Amino acid sequence: MEYSIKEIAGIIGADAKKLHDDRISILLTDSRRLSFPEQSLFFALQTKSNDGHNYIQGLYKLRVRNFVVSEVLPEFESMPEANFLVVKDSMKALQKLAIHHRKRFNIPVIGITGSNGKTIVKEFLYQLLHNEFNIVRSPRSYNSQLGVPLSVWQMNDKNTLGIFEAGISQPDEMERLQPIIAPTIGVITNIGEAHQENFISSTQKCLEKLMLFNDCEAIIYDGDDAFIANCIESACLSHKAITWSRKDSEAPLYIESIKKKESETIIRCTLLGFDRTYTIPFTDDASIENVIHCMAVMLYLKPTSVNDAEKFKQLEPVAMRLDVKQGINNCLLINDTYNSDINSLDIALDFQQSRRVGKDMKCTLILSDILQSGTLPKSLYKKVADLVGRKKIDRIIGIGRDLKEYGNVFDIEKEFYLSTEDFIQSASFKKFKNELILIKGSRQFHFERISELLEKKVHETILEVNLDAIVHNFNYYRSKLKPETKMVCMVKAFGYGAGSYELAKTLQEHRCDYLAVAVADEGAELRKEGISIPLIVMNPEFSSFNVLFENQLEPEVYSFRLLDAMIKETERRGITSYPIHIKIDTGMHRLGFQPKDVPEICERLKKQSGVVARSVFSHLVGSDSYVFDDFTKKQLETFTKAAGELEAGLEYKVIKHILNSAGIERFTDYQMDMVRLGIGLYGVSASGQKGLRNVSTLKTTILQIQNVPAGDSIGYSRMSYVKRDSRIAIIPIGYADGLDRHFSNGGGEVSINGQRCPIIGNICMDACMIDVTDIDANEGDTVIIFGEELPVSELSDKLKTIPYEILTSISPRVKRVYYRE
Ligand SMILES: *Cc1c(COP(=O)(O)O)cnc(C)c1O
Repeated sequence: MEYSIKEIAGIIGADAKKLHDDRISILLTDSRRLSFPEQSLFFALQTKSNDGHNYIQGLYKLRVRNFVVSEVLPEFESMPEANFLVVKDSMKALQKLAIHHRKRFNIPVIGITGSNGKTIVKEFLYQLLHNEFNIVRSPRSYNSQLGVPLSVWQMNDKNTLGIFEAGISQPDEMERLQPIIAPTIGVITNIGEAHQENFISSTQKCLEKLMLFNDCEAIIYDGDDAFIANCIESACLSHKAITWSRKDSEAPLYIESIKKKESETIIRCTLLGFDRTYTIPFTDDASIENVIHCMAVMLYLKPTSVNDAEKFKQLEPVAMRLDVKQGINNCLLINDTYNSDINSLDIALDFQQSRRVGKDMKCTLILSDILQSGTLPKSLYKKVADLVGRKKIDRIIGIGRDLKEYGNVFDIEKEFYLSTEDFIQSASFKKFKNELILIKGSRQFHFERISELLEKKVHETILEVNLDAIVHNFNYYRSKLKPETKMVCMVKAFGYGAGSYELAKTLQEHRCDYLAVAVADEGAELRKEGISIPLIVMNPEFSSFNVLFENQLEPEVYSFRLLDAMIKETERRGITSYPIHIKIDTGMHRLGFQPKDVPEICERLKKQSGVVARSVFSHLVGSDSYVFDDFTKKQLETFTKAAGELEAGLEYKVIKHILNSAGIERFTDYQMDMVRLGIGLYGVSASGQKGLRNVSTLKTTILQIQNVPAGDSIGYSRMSYVKRDSRIAIIPIGYADGLDRHFSNGGGEVSINGQRCPIIGNICMDACMIDVTDIDANEGDTVIIFGEELPVSELSDKLKTIPYEILTSISPRVKRVYYRE
C-alpha cells in the first residue's frame, strides 16, 4: 500500500510545506536492507550504539529521496532532491505511522506475547488457517519496538486476518506496542525467566505483557497456569477468557489425555462439548503446548476450522532461523523454507550476500512459486526479478508453474522446472560447485529434499555459533564506551574456537574498527576471504614479513630487534609509513618493550620513514579480579605515563589502549582511545555481567540407548559400574573432538531436553556414554555439551581451568554452523 509523503508528514507531525510529492510503500530502517530506493522512506534511528543519520548521505547517492530525521545536519544542503521530515524522535514517528496504518483495517488481529513459543504459535496458526484467511503476519520474530511497526506496515486491503507477536524486555515497552498491533484476540503463551533482568518481579513482567490485551475481545491462555490466571485477574481486563485445561472439564477446551508415541502425539480433548482426537507430528512438550494454544484460538476465531484433523497431522516444524551449512562440492547452503513471501525473500537475500566469500563465489537462488501473495503473478515476479537483480544474484532456478511461465522477466542466468522432482532429476542438479546457494520455497514444494541431497554429511557433533549474539555482545560493550572510543575485536585462535572468518565478516559489517589475530597466516586467510578492515597481528614472526606486507597486516612490535627488522624491511621494499603497534610491558612479562625504552623507541622511529606507530598498548594481567586491583592500577598508571611520553616524543597522535574485556567491564575510565574486546564478545563475562548472550553451543545427538543391567561396567578399563538397571546413551563426541577426558566417570555432565545427566565410563576418542536412566531421552535427541543451559564456565570450573581453554580446544573436525535468529 502506498502513502504520499505529504500524508505521512501529516501523520507523524512533520512540517510538509517544502516537500515535493513522492509515493512511499517501503519503510527502511537499516541502510543495508535497501532494495527499492524510490519507494523507500528512511527513518534515521538513534540507538545506543549507532545513529541512522550517518547513512543518509550514502543512501542519497543510491537514489533514496525521503528521510525522517531528528536532527538537521549541514550536509542536507547538498541533497537538493531530498525530502527531510523533521521530528523529535524517529522511532516514535515510525510507531505513529504504524498506528495510523493499523487503524485503517477492521479485521481480526491476533496479538501473541509470552516468554517462549511466540513465533511457533504464530507460524502454526498460519499453517492451520491459511486456507481460510488471507493472513498478514510478522516476518520471522519481528516483535520489538522496531519489528512490530514494520510488521504491521505490511497490512493491506486483501488481508482478512493479522497475526503479530510482541516481545518486550523492559517496563513501558508494551504500552507502546499495544496501539500498533491493537489486537482483537490475545494469546499469552507462558511466562518464564527470559528478559527478567529489567523487571522487579515476574508479576510485574507478566502484567506489563498483558497490557497488549487492553482492548481485546478474547484472551487465550493455559487455564492451569495459576500464575498467569492470577495476573489476568488482577489486570482487570474486560474480555472473554478462552482457556484450556487438563484438569477442568468445564473449560472451553478440555484436554482429556495426551499420549506420546515414538514420533507423534495423540491429543484427546473436548471442544465446546464435542469429543475429538488429534494426532500431531511432535512429541516435545513445548510443541504440544503450542498446538493446544492454536486450537483454542481457532475455536474462538472460527470454530469450524478445528474440524479438519488432517491439518494438525500435517503441521511442519518451524525453522526459526537461517542456517549456513557446508554443501557438496564446496558449496555453501542457506536453507529457508520458513515462508516464501517477498519480505522474507528480501531478508534472506541480504543474509546470502553477507555470507558471500570473496567476489568469485557464485550466488544462486533456488526459489519456488510464491503462493498467496495477493498480487498478480506478472507484477509479483517483475518485483522479484528487480530484487534479485539488485542483490547481485548470479543465477536463479525457479520451480513451479508461475515461475516457469513468467520466468522471462529475470535477466540473469536462469532455469525453470515445473516441480521439485523435475529439478532433482535434471542434469544441472548434479553440477553445483563452489556456489553459495539460497534454497527458499513454500512448504508445499518440499525443498528440504533439495537441501538434504546437497548437504555434506559429516560427523553429527557440531558447534553452533549465533551471529546475532556476537552482534549483541559487541554492541553491549560498545554501549559502555564513549562513542569515539575505537574497538579491536580479538579473533585470534580461530575466533576463540568459534571460527574467525564468519565472525570477522559479521564484525566488519557492524563497523568494528580493528580485528586482531595471533599470527600472520590467520590474517592472510581473512584477507583472502574478503575482510578489508585493519588487522593487527599480535605475534608476528620474523619469517612472515612477506605475508604481512602482501596482506596489509599491521604487526605488534615488542622489541628493538623486531623494530629494526621492520624498518629495514620497509626500506628495502620502498614502503613508507607502514602502521605498527608498539607493545609496552607493564607487568605481564610476556612480550613488550620496557617503559624505560620509550625515549629510545622515539629516537629510532624519528630517524626513519618506513613505519609509523599507529598505536601504543599494554595488557593487564588481572583485570577480572579485585584481588589484583592495586596491581592493575599500577599497570594503568605506568602505561598512561609511558604512552604519554611516546606520543610527546613522536610529536604525532598515537592511539592508546590497554583494556581487555574484563578491563572494559571494571576500569571503563581507562578506555583511552581504543579497547580490545576478546572473551566478552563470545558471551563469557569475567566479572559476572548479566547482559551478555551465549554465542556457542556444542551439541551432538544420541546414537543409541542401551539397557544395561545392574552390576555391568561401562567403557574402557571398567572404570564405572552401574548399581541399578540403567539406560545408557552413546553420543558421538570424544576427546578427539575436544571433550576433555577428565570429564569421564561422573566428572562432567551434559544436558538433554533441559535435564542434566552424568558422563559415565571413560571418555573414548570419538564417543562417550551418558547415564540417562533418570530422564526422558530417546535415540536421536539433541545433547548439549555446553551452551546457554550449561555454561562453558561450569565446564572450566570443573577442570580448574578458564573458559578460554574449553572454547579453543574444540577440534577443527567439529563442524561450525552459523546462524542468525
Ligand atoms: C587476547 C587478548 C586480549 C583479549 O582478552 P580478553 O580477556 O579475551 O578480553 C586483549 N589484548 C591482548 C593483547 C590479547 O592477547
